[in-house]
Amino acid sequence: SAHHQILIIGGGTGGITVAARLRRAGLRDIALLEPSDTHWYQPLWTLVGGGQAPLRAALRTEAEVIPPGVRWLRERATAVDPAARTVTTATGRVLSYGRLVLAPGLSLDWDGVPGLAAAVGHDGVSSNYRPDLAPYTWELIRRMRRGTAVFTMPSGPVKCGGAPQKIAYLAADYWRKRGVLGAIRPVLALPESSLFKVPVFARALEQTARRYGIEVRLQTELTRLDGAAREAELTDHATGTAETIRYDLLHAVPPQHAPRWLADGPLADPASPYGYVKADPQTLQHPDFPEVFVLGDVANLPTSKTGAAIRKQAPVLVGNLLAGLRGRPATARYDGYTSCPLVTARHKMLLAEFDYDLRPAPSFPFLDTTRERTDMWFLKRYGLPQLYFQGMLKGRA
Ligand code: FAD
Repeated sequence: SAHHQILIIGGGTGGITVAARLRRAGLRDIALLEPSDTHWYQPLWTLVGGGQAPLRAALRTEAEVIPPGVRWLRERATAVDPAARTVTTATGRVLSYGRLVLAPGLSLDWDGVPGLAAAVGHDGVSSNYRPDLAPYTWELIRRMRRGTAVFTMPSGPVKCGGAPQKIAYLAADYWRKRGVLGAIRPVLALPESSLFKVPVFARALEQTARRYGIEVRLQTELTRLDGAAREAELTDHATGTAETIRYDLLHAVPPQHAPRWLADGPLADPASPYGYVKADPQTLQHPDFPEVFVLGDVANLPTSKTGAAIRKQAPVLVGNLLAGLRGRPATARYDGYTSCPLVTARHKMLLAEFDYDLRPAPSFPFLDTTRERTDMWFLKRYGLPQLYFQGMLKGRA
């Protein structure tokens, strides 16, 4: 069996960022398990669905983003044995490691809502959570002149908690500009009891929804879908009642959890109903297996799951991993920073940034990002992709 000083599982946002930083620190024996030949910048999927960016702007080949000197193993991990310090792959290969970094992201559970898997991708049902369907979202929005448009979000954490509602605002803004919003009934169903966890942003988003005449249903989620009849069942958890709505357009977000092979294994946090991997929230080290580090969507951290969070997690993880290799204690600390760019219109955006305590953590303290701003929209569309590909994935930002 092959041995590597560092083995990374997942060549997405977290895996590539950590690989690049470890290379820059001078480590030589780094292997990366990643079966896919495409690397996605997922934050652009929302703008693709809203007709504000082409899909190709969101993707690179995996080969392009893997840092030189990192060995790419084009395979899927299927099990970790942390006591033996080995990882098994789909072809039965067994790899041993000195340190393991876990960043395989989340699994999307399209079967988690009856009828969704069969309906998504045709007859008016789309989802920006599948990049191949984000252009279809835009096609549906662009073609709509009248009728009912339903936007849903499942209960339980999803990556980028703002994405399920951003697309509703982009759609409504487009319809308003086309002069058809008056003939369209937009319904936004969200599982929580407010539009956002941080009150100042919840209030701003309430105003946005009101401006567009969006019917907001809180504590409500999609519980069944009949794609042929174009009927969605929305269940209101506050009252326990279910209502069936006929839709012309439905944008659905599937329930999400850790990949099964991790959720069922020894690294998962038994306290997490979603099978997330246990992690010290400050050091990002596994409390039971100190050779294991975890970041990104799969980590059981009490903050929201975003690429922006990973940007702050990666240097902490790498700092603590390197300290361990040198026999020093793990002293770098992650404070839970995350950020959510809340696109509210064509060329308008709020930027919500906060930490574990939901305290504001602004990157631009001199700008009021609790108001809709045009500069923030340009940052999201052009600045952040550049920062991502040229800075973060190169281990520089
Ligand atoms: P990913 O980037 O998903 O990467 C996981 C990688 O692991 C993939 O390449 C996958 O192929 C690989 N993998 C999976 N299973 C295995 C296996 N068994 N073995 C080996 N490799 C495996 N974040 C923001 O900061 N701002 C935003 O505006 C924003 N908007 C978003 C909008 C949408 C619609 C979506 C879907 C996400 C958005 N995000 C946003 C969230 C952000 O994209 C994620 O938080 C981030 O990509 C998570 O990084 P990760 O490394 O944990 O997982």
